[in-house]
Amino acid sequence: MDEIFLSGNRRRLTLKRGEERVVANRHPWIFAGAIGAESGPADAAIGDLVDGDGRRLASGFYSAHSDIRLRALTFGDEELTVELIASRLAASIARRRSLLSKETNAIRLVNAEGDELSGLVVDLYNDVAVVEVSNAGVERIRPAVMDVLRRELHPRLIYLNNDLPARRLEQLSTEPEAIGEGTPATTIVENGLRFEVDPAAGQKTGFFLDQRENRQLARTLASGKRVLNLFSYTGAFGVYAAAGGATSVENVDGSHIAIEQARRNHDLNMSSNIALFSIADAFAHVRKLDAEKERFGLIVCDPPAFAKRRAEVDRAARGYKDINLYAMRLLEPRAVLLTFSCSGHISLDLFQKVIFAAAVDAGRRISILRRLTAAPDHPVSIYCPEGEYLKGFLLEVRE
Ligand code: SAH
Repeated sequence: MDEIFLSGNRRRLTLKRGEERVVANRHPWIFAGAIGAESGPADAAIGDLVDGDGRRLASGFYSAHSDIRLRALTFGDEELTVELIASRLAASIARRRSLLSKETNAIRLVNAEGDELSGLVVDLYNDVAVVEVSNAGVERIRPAVMDVLRRELHPRLIYLNNDLPARRLEQLSTEPEAIGEGTPATTIVENGLRFEVDPAAGQKTGFFLDQRENRQLARTLASGKRVLNLFSYTGAFGVYAAAGGATSVENVDGSHIAIEQARRNHDLNMSSNIALFSIADAFAHVRKLDAEKERFGLIVCDPPAFAKRRAEVDRAARGYKDINLYAMRLLEPRAVLLTFSCSGHISLDLFQKVIFAAAVDAGRRISILRRLTAAPDHPVSIYCPEGEYLKGFLLEVRE
């Protein structure tokens, strides 16, 4: 491991003249366009960025294939060593200890740039740690990551899905790997509620941990209400709403696998039969519910990222407007809507404009009660605002 960090094994990248701002802003992504000459081994895990006089400006994970040539972890004189990486990892875990309890045993342990570990995400699901490595340099120091996870958490299994698109770009293996005992499927507790999570079959790492606090909010709002959970995935918001005393909960998702899991998650927590599970396209389903004059006291709208690339922002905005317009039409007087966008390319400002346009066209009087974001185990680096993708509003419709 240590030899990866020896100076002879590091790539040396010279910052182009005029690109000094890149380093002054401490943004961890150093793009190829800012780099002039490169020397040293092309398969290096670690790179040093230097100025024209050879002075070191930053060090980090090197990638020969990605446009993000260097993922900077340290700036200036700070030495990048395997011990530094291990200590950042241990600190990330330590910061979250207080979030772990008998009531909640699933959290994001490492949130890439937000934990000063660009290229690495680790989620803990009860006894299973799910690791996502998106960069060739991080892949090379994986053994050190595993050591810390084992020492700090003693997970039954460490699972690597390896299905991130970035891995293909980095020419890394996309075969899943499991180190430990048993299968990656497990049952978590979150705020006292239980959910089956299968990191091998699910979306992302298996469960949307970023919504934990917003789900808890939904629980406090649900009492006595008819609830509609759009884009329900495995039904997490629906379970919280039912636990909060909803009179009925309809979960809607296009994936029958997600809906089957939603059904099992509901049954894990409740014996009541207030829940409905609809395999449907949400855009068509809201139109059908509107035509049938169905109305709800609480609607959750948490779609997938409609804009995965900047070029898709306009089309995505139309999608968000459409679904929110219909969601607003379905609200009873004084009902509330929890609405989200997890597209990094849609800013909070743009999302609010979209909500405004939906409200105008729906002809409803809407107020914002709260702005919502990801739970605190998803910290965002002030130097890398791209990490802040989840935004939402708690809206109320007036009579
Ligand atoms: N709210 C969920 C996460 C939603 S993820 C939670 O808290 O766990 C987005 C979900 O939207 C996925 O399950 C996906 O299957 C579903 N989906 C995507 N497009 C859809 C569409 N047009 N209609 C219905 N569901 C859709």
